Parts: sequence; C-alpha cells; structure tokens
Amino acid sequence: MNKTYERILEDIKAIRIYSTHCHHREDSFYSHMSLDKILSNSYVTFTQPLAARNHDERALFLERNRYNTYLLWLEKAIRELYDIPERITANNWDEISQKITSAYENNSERHLDILRNHCRYNRVVQDAFWKPGSDLGHPDLFAPAYRINMFTYALDENPHDHDNVCLYEQCSRKSPPGDLEEFIVWMEEQITKKVNSGCSALKSALAYGRDLHYQPQDRDHIAKLYRMDKRLLTGKDRHDFSDYVIDAACKIAAKLDIPFQHHTGLGAIDRTNAMQLRELIERNPDTKFVLFHGSYPWLEDVYALVHKYPNTYADLCWLPIISTSASQRMILELLEVGQTHRIHWGCDTWTSEESYGAVLAIEHALANVLSAQVDQGFYTHEDAVFIARRILRDNTKELYRI
Ligand SMILES: [Zn+2]
Repeated sequence: MNKTYERILEDIKAIRIYSTHCHHREDSFYSHMSLDKILSNSYVTFTQPLAARNHDERALFLERNRYNTYLLWLEKAIRELYDIPERITANNWDEISQKITSAYENNSERHLDILRNHCRYNRVVQDAFWKPGSDLGHPDLFAPAYRINMFTYALDENPHDHDNVCLYEQCSRKSPPGDLEEFIVWMEEQITKKVNSGCSALKSALAYGRDLHYQPQDRDHIAKLYRMDKRLLTGKDRHDFSDYVIDAACKIAAKLDIPFQHHTGLGAIDRTNAMQLRELIERNPDTKFVLFHGSYPWLEDVYALVHKYPNTYADLCWLPIISTSASQRMILELLEVGQTHRIHWGCDTWTSEESYGAVLAIEHALANVLSAQVDQGFYTHEDAVFIARRILRDNTKELYRI
C-alpha cells in the first residue's frame, strides 16, 4: 500500500465509531468461546455447515473459504486480537481455539472490551431480533432498534416472523385487538413505548420472508381481512395485510421522527432489491428510509434512490465483509452521486471478533478509495479524513440521535 493509503488509514484508526447495526448477544453467550463457536456464529457458516472436528474436514473447509471475504476479514481480526503470527490452518486450529477460550475465561467482559477498545465503538444500534428493542443491559453502548416484522404476521394463527419471534409473547395482551383500527393504535403504542425507553430506530428484516414491493392497500379491504376467519385467508390476503402494516409503520416512524431501517438486497432475493421500496418511499416523504447492505448485489438501486429522494440514507452495513470490492465501488459512487451526510456503516455481526473484522474491512475500503481520490488530486488529505469521520461517526450520531 502506498504512503497516502497509510496516512489516511492512520487517521481513520483514530476515529471513535458509531455503528448503525449489530446483533450482539447477551453476556452469558460469551462465557464459553472457541474458534468453532465464533465460526458457527459468523457469516462464514451462513450458507454452509462448519467443518467437522477433524483435520481433513477443517483443511477442506479452509481451502474452500480462504478467499471469501467473510473468512478473510474474520481471520485477520482473530490473528490480530489473539496475536497469531500465521494463518489459521487445520494444524493450529485447536491451539488458536484454546487461546480464545482462555482469553474469555480470564475476562468475562472480553466481548465488550473488544467492542469498546478494538472496534472503538462509542454507540452501536443493536438489533436483538430475538428480543426486539433490547439493549442487552448495556444502554451506554447499545442503542436498540425496534424490529417490527412480527406485527405484519398478525393475521396468522400463531403470529411469528422468520426468526420465530412471536408477536403476542413479545407484546403480551389477553386477546388480539378486536379490529384493524384497534390493532394499528395498539401497534403505535407498542412502538412509542419502545422509543420512550431508548429505541433509536425501527427495523424491518422482512426481505427474508417476502418481497419488498409494498403496494398501497385499501383500508376497508384490510379491515375486512382482519375480521375474517383466519383459516379462509389466502397468501395474497396476508401479503396485502403486510403491505398495510409496513405503510402504517412508516407513518409512525415519521410521527416519532426516528429512522426506519430496511434490510435490502440478499435474503429471499425475489424482488428484495432496494428499488422495490420506491413507491413506499414516494408515499412517505416524511419517513427517513435507511437502505441496508447497499442492496447487494443490486448496488445501482441505492444510487438511484439516494439521488432522487432526500429522505433516503445509504447504509453500507454488512457490505464490506460480503464483498470488499463492492463496498469500495459503492463508497466512491455514493460520494459522487449522493451526499456525504447520507452514507452510513455498521458491522452487522454476532461476535466481537467478526465485528472487529468488519471494522478492519470498512477501514481498508475507505482508505483504499479515499487515497486513490487524493492521489488523483480530487480530494485533499483533510477531505478524506472528513469523509471517513462523517461515514463512521457523525452521520450515524446525528441521524439516530445517539
Ligand atoms: Zn443484520
């Protein structure tokens, strides 16, 4: 790497970060850590099982994943955090794992120490999808987002989302609201309660369960569906209801003046690209739409939306570890077609090691893109550092008021 890259990276590493998105677990989760546990709770095993605990399976697993950016950045993080001089191999696997186990045994707060001191997080917008709105008992570090998927499943016999989060367990009440109007009022009350107790955003991860094309729905039609015998409802009826609930949630977010985070891109991948949200965005000009994950692999959708709609925010969370080169393309194009104050980043991880890997990835992506701009005479060094501060710190601090 050249001198410009090194100088910019050094200044980036002095920034205290505000992350838009994380799935950190409760303290008790981190009492017994190992290399296998970190990998099992990482994106490396998102689409495939972890290698069996034997030499040959592990060697094959590493060979197959070595150049995938999920493993590449996680490995860099583990090597740095545990002072491992060589790459992870089937031969040193158990030794590295033991090092990790001992480090956690010696310090029960290690998972938080990594987030505060290595990741340099001041605040993190936390998505505890298993307990929507939880700050994990650490409100100084975690500013929760309130995931509202479960409300869209209210017409199901046992309403729960793709993560098996049950609506009437999370928001207990004797019986479901009697009609649509009562349901929407009750949903608003639940959301308001969460915002009053510290939630800084709404979050939808519906792209794992349906398309993102939320169409306008007639109130009387939805009210009729709400009153109908649930056994008679069709898939389309439930989809229409889901459209209506998300539109209502947009209006509640606007009223409470909090951003609404939308998972876009990967997931169900059938019409889950960000452009599917266009009509919803147009119908709700007062709602702040945060477009997660760069809509990967449909990055261009985000460019068009941020160019046209001032109430949209491009969030690179997850992207630098999905594909580092895609995140670099996106940083540059967003700076060129959008506005500096509407670009954000978050780690989107479960373990502190993977979170640190995500930090290393965004730092590298920023330094790489910005140094090239400096070397070509487009930006000064000060411009580069200003941009990095906006993306890693100021934009998120301001938008989420954390
Ligand atoms: Zn996430």
